[in-house]
Amino acid sequence: MVFWTLCSDCSSPISRTGNDRSWRCIRCQRQARLNRLRALNEQRKSEAALARAAFTCLVCGKPLAAARSTRGFCSDACRQAAHRAV
Ligand SMILES: [Zn+2]
Ligand SMILES: [Zn+2]
Repeated sequence: MVFWTLCSDCSSPISRTGNDRSWRCIRCQRQARLNRLRALNEQRKSEAALARAAFTCLVCGKPLAAARSTRGFCSDACRQAAHRAV
């Protein structure tokens, strides 16, 4: 069974079959998939940046050993430098 509807994005008429759950034309489907992939990519990138930031010294940017007591800084010197800066 085929019936006609409008693309939910660009309102161009599209044919829609009974088991097709998409309301978008082919072009908008592709665009939507691209957008979703791009958003996922951006999210992954910012999460990676956050993870990196959590494990690098806030003063000199050196990678930190995880679960140090001086969290956020690679050494007492950097921690004190940060406190002096504030
Ligand atoms: Zn469309
Ligand atoms: Zn440091």
